[in-house]
Amino acid sequence: MSELERTRERAPAVPAWEYAPAPESRDIVHLRDRYGLFVGGEFVEPKSGRWFATIDPSTEDTLAEVAEAGPEDVDLAVDAAREAWTSRWRDLPGSERAKYLYRIARALQERAREFAVLESMNGGKPIKESRDVDLPLAAAHFFYYAGWADKLDYAFPGRSPRPIGVAGQVIPWNFPLLMAAWKLAPALATGNTAVLKPAETTPLTALLLAEVIQEAELPPGVVNIVTGAGETGAALVDAEVDKVAFTGSTEVGKIIRRSVAGTGKRLTLELGGKAANVVFEDAPLDQAVEGVVNGIFFNQGHVCCAGSRLLVQEPIFEPLLEKLKGRLQTLRIGDPLDKNTDIGAINSKAQLRRIEELVAAGVEEGAEMYQPACDLPARGFWFRPTLFTGVSQSHRIAQEEIFGPVLSILTFRTPEEAVEKANNTPYGLSAGVWTEKGSRILWMAERMEAGVVWANTFNRFDPASPFGGYKESGFGREGGLHGLEPYLSLGGGELDGGSGRT
Ligand code: NDP
Repeated sequence: MSELERTRERAPAVPAWEYAPAPESRDIVHLRDRYGLFVGGEFVEPKSGRWFATIDPSTEDTLAEVAEAGPEDVDLAVDAAREAWTSRWRDLPGSERAKYLYRIARALQERAREFAVLESMNGGKPIKESRDVDLPLAAAHFFYYAGWADKLDYAFPGRSPRPIGVAGQVIPWNFPLLMAAWKLAPALATGNTAVLKPAETTPLTALLLAEVIQEAELPPGVVNIVTGAGETGAALVDAEVDKVAFTGSTEVGKIIRRSVAGTGKRLTLELGGKAANVVFEDAPLDQAVEGVVNGIFFNQGHVCCAGSRLLVQEPIFEPLLEKLKGRLQTLRIGDPLDKNTDIGAINSKAQLRRIEELVAAGVEEGAEMYQPACDLPARGFWFRPTLFTGVSQSHRIAQEEIFGPVLSILTFRTPEEAVEKANNTPYGLSAGVWTEKGSRILWMAERMEAGVVWANTFNRFDPASPFGGYKESGFGREGGLHGLEPYLSLGGGELDGGSGRT
């Protein structure tokens, strides 16, 4: 018997560990009863006269009423953005634009807790994620692009980078503030003005950002925020904007692409994914399990580059599955504001229905489902973390983006088979590889048809990536160098930042 085993034998039995509730206080958030549209630097009543309720998906309680922008409201916002562009922002030196972006970044840091609590209240994501991921990254985005604002000539030597004009930006609900930062920071740094449409279910942090923008004394009209549902987004796409930037579903992306075709508007699309996370037999199993869990259950699986298809090399299928099931039993589901919560609420009833429909299709098509035993809160929208084995490539759960905490597991024997299965998807957003061998990482990264490949070995571990690994290849989200080109005219031979395959 080893010394370790002897020590274990002598140790007293450990009673079951229970987590006491550790809720973050909601008091830091001061909600208004009603939020108007943010146009020309002011909150204004909607000309449409319509309002809608925004809720907390973990309780279904109404948080506030929000204005619904109609086409006339959208046009007024675009006019305000145009006026701000031509009269002020376009010709402001980059170093001056940068000052505003730095101000916004610092304000986000100063008010990080308030933003994080509000993000979790309105979106359902665990506070530890909004606090440790969404907020720091949103602030970092503004800092990063502030740094570029006065260096555009150096980024594109021999070209003459010029702003495009007014950007119409439509964003989804999975990272509401972070998506707003992804859209606004590069647009403003490059000298454009913007009209942003947050998702219908998660408008509140964008509206709090509008308050920060007012405090930063950004010239009125440089940023405008129009809330509403899909019709508001469609009106913005059709309005007199010079560029459309969209993140969301592939279906809506296709609609937008069609309506923008032939108009001369610039377009960037960041759409869905069905990423393969490939684990080879030589991978460090415990670390791979953490990466796999992080890859699919982070943010309830509401992540475009979620590792939703796990490809496991046959010899390690059984031990990996056992470890995965064990790890799933330790995940805590519940109050998004509890600091111990791993999996929060599903963002909306509609998204919950979609997850349920696809999971039912998986069972019907013959895959085997595993869910850990756990209690779910009585109210709100919830879904247990779910694994599927016995999945074949033709199953809907292997082909369609579920956008929820559901992992489809397939096996492979050779690296060639892994590549073939990984690429058997209409999507091409991201992929992950787990192996001890650096050469195999490079071999896989060359062959997997994905914009970003996260590679994972023993000694490289980056908790910020959804796969827990480091980025092996890929470009900025909006395409091209540093994410700047999509908002610039480069004087000929332009790179359009369309994200290509979706
Ligand atoms: P959508 O594509 O419908 O929504 C994204 C944004 O587009 C929202 O602001 C939405 O408004 C708006 N929108 C909807 N219809 C139009 C339109 N015709 N013209 C312009 N804008 C429009 O995604 P959903 O929120 O419905 O999510 C459905 C699926 O999309 C998910 O299951 C997932 O597969 C995918 N998705 C992918 C994301 C990614 O990051 N790649 C992010 C979110 C979703 P509103 O929400 O107010 O209706």
